Amino acid sequence: MTKHIGILGGTFDPVHLGHVSCARFVQQHCQLDEVRLMPCHLPAHRATPGATSEQRAAMVTLAIQSYPRLSLERLELDKQSASYTADSLALLTHREPNSRFYFIIGMDSLCYFQQWKDWQGILKQAHILVCQRPGYSAAEGDAPFLLLHYGINNVTSLKQVSAGKILLLDNPLHAISASHIRQQLVSANPGTDTLDPVVLNYIATQQLYQA
Ligand code: ATP
Repeated sequence: MTKHIGILGGTFDPVHLGHVSCARFVQQHCQLDEVRLMPCHLPAHRATPGATSEQRAAMVTLAIQSYPRLSLERLELDKQSASYTADSLALLTHREPNSRFYFIIGMDSLCYFQQWKDWQGILKQAHILVCQRPGYSAAEGDAPFLLLHYGINNVTSLKQVSAGKILLLDNPLHAISASHIRQQLVSANPGTDTLDPVVLNYIATQQLYQA
């Protein structure tokens, strides 16, 4: 039987409640068997005082521990080099030929999706599920073109085809971003309305994101 798997790719530096809320909403709304959070690999010497790949993966594991349908996808971390979504989807479909993949992005990502490497290749291998994000609209950037050519209106129609469609979701809005959280962490405690308390505790214990 075909498995329906959502993939939420990102940096997760750190994973926040916006990510987890989107993943949970998509899983339930689209009736997916599971949603995997897939942190990208980042070189250890990158400029920002962020977390290592293993620390980002550890925070994702902590943030999703109460949700059995969410999991950590290590594919890009285990490669130890930069990954592109089209390549990662090719590896996933090769590894799991009986699964259908739904790549989850925020509206900010849809607005510049045509700059992604081999974006047509992504759409050949998966559907795209787009979560609304405060401050970004479907009228901006690449979104109007993409929705005109690939947009679909509902989950039932989406599931009748194996890939190549873009569905806009009506998810709860969260004005949260990892970059804002990192800025806050330099001087203050961002609080539990943006980060899961277990993630906040991990950040404090590991002394992450300090100036
Ligand atoms: P940064 O602020 O550093 O850019 P981020 O908060 O956007 O980080 P990422 O790990 O880059 O976090 O995001 C991964 C994916 O999750 C992206 O597709 C992004 O659009 C989406 N996303 C992140 N935060 C939200 C949010 N609050 N609402 C909807 N989608 C989100």
